Amino acid sequence: MSRPLRIATVSVLAVMAVASSFAPEPTAAANVDDPPGYDDTPFLPGGQWRVHDSQRPAPRIVTPGDQGAAPGDAVVLFDGTDLTAWQGHQGDAGWEIVGGAAQVNGTGDISTREQFGDMQLHLEWASPSTVSSESQGRGNSGVFLMGRYEIQVLDSFENRTYSDGQAAAMYGQYPPAVNASRGPGVWQTYDILFRAPRFDGETLLSPAVVTVIHNGVMVHHAREFLGKTAHKKVAAYEPHESTGPIKLQDHGNPVRYRNIWVRRLDLD
Ligand code: MG
Repeated sequence: MSRPLRIATVSVLAVMAVASSFAPEPTAAANVDDPPGYDDTPFLPGGQWRVHDSQRPAPRIVTPGDQGAAPGDAVVLFDGTDLTAWQGHQGDAGWEIVGGAAQVNGTGDISTREQFGDMQLHLEWASPSTVSSESQGRGNSGVFLMGRYEIQVLDSFENRTYSDGQAAAMYGQYPPAVNASRGPGVWQTYDILFRAPRFDGETLLSPAVVTVIHNGVMVHHAREFLGKTAHKKVAAYEPHESTGPIKLQDHGNPVRYRNIWVRRLDLD
């Protein structure tokens, strides 16, 4: 009798050990009945959702897997040592380099000195490990393609905000297909494929199009930007040059970046 009992006990312990090696299931947002967002902003095209609509459904949570390094033909924008490829509003980029990462420090946005149009961009980021504030105030930063089109950076791990403003959202336009966020302080990746908009003088010939992979999980596929990123307004296009800088946002939270590289593409 003791032998089967012992096997049963060992099996239970093994199952418990395996179970405990997984992250706990994220808890549902506490503010289900009154989510953050707006109910008085203009409607997006289609008339179903307002900009930053508080009632827009939260993307499904997916636990991400893992990943990598710059291909041979990439322009390395930050390898952990210096920010010479970047500039601030007035001269050199002022962000601190801490432990091989560039950290937002309140000195303002930084932009690449080089200009890019169609591109494949890889970067890694981490929201602060010390959680403070909520919604848009938690680990906010952003990646602005051509200095205009934002893929949001935010701590969206158990932090509800308006869906088109959470991590990996095309800010103010489209939520990510799923929420593949890792926890506060944990490194995350964006792999972004971008086709720049085409203009003929003042006329938009084709919109900007983006595909985004967040922590190895597809969150946007060939999605068209409605225009230049805007807050509480429906985005619209303004004609611009065929290339622009990649800009990283200083939103006042000490978000870190590392391993940033870009490949120039010609998607015509
Ligand atoms: Mg932002």
